[in-house]
Amino acid sequence: MPGKVWLVGAGPGDPTLITVKGLHCIRQADVLVYDRLVCKELLDEANAQCELINVGKTPNFHPIPQEEINNILIKHALQGQNVVRLKGGDPYVFGRGGEEAEALIPHHIPFEVVPGITSAIGGLAYAGIPVTHRDCASSFHVITGHRKEGKDQVDWSQYAKLDGTLVVLMGMSQLSHICQSLIMCGKDASTPVAVVRYASRKEQQVVCGNLDSIASLVQDAGLRSPALIVIGKVAGKHTILEFTATHHEIQSLVLNQ
Ligand code: SAH
Repeated sequence: MPGKVWLVGAGPGDPTLITVKGLHCIRQADVLVYDRLVCKELLDEANAQCELINVGKTPNFHPIPQEEINNILIKHALQGQNVVRLKGGDPYVFGRGGEEAEALIPHHIPFEVVPGITSAIGGLAYAGIPVTHRDCASSFHVITGHRKEGKDQVDWSQYAKLDGTLVVLMGMSQLSHICQSLIMCGKDASTPVAVVRYASRKEQQVVCGNLDSIASLVQDAGLRSPALIVIGKVAGKHTILEFTATHHEIQSLVLNQ
């Protein structure tokens, strides 16, 4: 009998943002396969016998190929173990969760997906940015700044026409290109932009500007990946809402109490 694989979303960073079900899965796991963006507090929730496998890339280390990650999940599940694949945010939002689930099917390995709070929504909230707002954004669009090799590059002209909030993940190396492309395709250069690094973690940093200024402000501040790029009027709410919200205090909450 194969074991089962749970694809679990860890939430954006604050460990207490994991779901009750996700935490339960971690505590029951025989094997925990995790990414770089998953925080240590959640790993500490695994039981003492659980095998922890880090498949995240580190700054000086090449990423483990997706196929190898799939094989790790398959191997342990076929040995009858309960495997938790813990991912930052939500497993199906640019998390390759779909690819991993598909890889399990030919091996008849049962799996379950436990959604998580995506950084594209929850991460912004911690920076005082509501992803929608009746006064200024009635839709939002979550975009990857980085397409799979061999795929067409992002067509920014499509997004320049939209009025809603644009949230770009994995876009930091392309920040200047993204902003200039949107301006060239007709988006107002004064459109507010915020860049949020390590959203919802203690190290969270936010830089605000507009389409024209943000790339150099981010460079001056030395902000790097992992970060969210938020484009649209809601980005301008950061200064009003971040300092009045109180959710950061809750970070001291202990998970096992
Ligand atoms: N599944 C994840 C996204 C994975 S893609 C989710 O739902 O959030 C990885 C990218 O997500 C990073 O390069 C960065 O752009 C963004 N990201 C994830 N967590 C983040 C955080 N806490 N702060 C800022 N950006 C984050």
